Amino acid sequence: MAVSRAMLIAILLLAYRTLSKKHHPDRNPGNEKAKDTFVKVAEAYEVLSDKKKRATYDKYGEEGLKREAGGGQHHDPFDIFSQFFGGHRGQQTRRGPNLESIVEIDLEQVYTGSQLEIQVDKQVVCDECSGTGSDPDHELHTCDMCGGHGMRIVRHQIAPGMFQQMQVQCEKCGGQGKMITHRCKKCSGNKVIRIKESFNFEVPAGYPRGKQIVFEGEAEESPDIETGDLIIGIREAASNRKGWRRKGSDLYRTEVLSLSDALLGGFTRDIVRLDGTILKIKRQEGQTTQSGWVESIEDEGMPHWDEELGHAATSKGMAFIEWIVVLPELGDSKGSKAIKDVLRKHQKDEL
Ligand SMILES: [Zn+2]
Ligand SMILES: [Zn+2]
Repeated sequence: MAVSRAMLIAILLLAYRTLSKKHHPDRNPGNEKAKDTFVKVAEAYEVLSDKKKRATYDKYGEEGLKREAGGGQHHDPFDIFSQFFGGHRGQQTRRGPNLESIVEIDLEQVYTGSQLEIQVDKQVVCDECSGTGSDPDHELHTCDMCGGHGMRIVRHQIAPGMFQQMQVQCEKCGGQGKMITHRCKKCSGNKVIRIKESFNFEVPAGYPRGKQIVFEGEAEESPDIETGDLIIGIREAASNRKGWRRKGSDLYRTEVLSLSDALLGGFTRDIVRLDGTILKIKRQEGQTTQSGWVESIEDEGMPHWDEELGHAATSKGMAFIEWIVVLPELGDSKGSKAIKDVLRKHQKDEL
């Protein structure tokens, strides 16, 4: 959509208030750049609010204004337009929304890193008609309302003797300037179709929670709109954790111990790591484990993520294992026997 001059003026007057406040010399003492910007903003405002200058602009454009100013030391007040619109005055392309998708993966896959493929159901510009909606075998007719310009000029009287010209999109052809005689068979004239597209990507080992994978310009497409990004959020599934819980690059788990193992030691516990290998934890004979004790083991956590490298570092975080001792029930005979056995063995070891 083209931006009319009237719209530009409205936007500029609004922006003037904001900018003049922000760059006012009183608020930026000693800041030459702010002062310069303030002067430019003020000059642009002056032109826009000055009837005579505006009339010159209407008739002869910027060049006319520059001629009138007679060269010399002069800021081009219309620099301000370029600052607002990135140098393309009145030619802003609208950007479509991003397309978001969530992929759930197992913690094991984050531990080892994994290659994934997802199918995305999305709208794309029809490849048969390139988004015109017209059958490629039939020609388009020039719109008789706008003569093929896609735009019409409307004049509004805003005050006695004062007219505002506005450029509006032609409603008959929707701004296309052309009329469709035969609709495209593939998209039925809708200009867009829905497809399923595959995307392959890697979730590197140690990928931080909440970090997103971005495919630029792969969101849903619409004609004349800049396509947004496809954003894939990675979520860890609650299942398949092999008993581990993740906090950043550290891993946590709880291990249950019998009374005799806790009191007497002398056992080996096999703990399955997230990649399926075994972490062996040994207790010497007579080495007691207190219930609730949290054992910390270095380099047995998640791979550390290196944001600068964009992949996992060689080191890993910590593993924290909480040992919980389950006491036998005193009331039942089996439980009492277990306690007596432990005490007897303990006394024998002491002797
Ligand atoms: Zn089509
Ligand atoms: Zn038209």
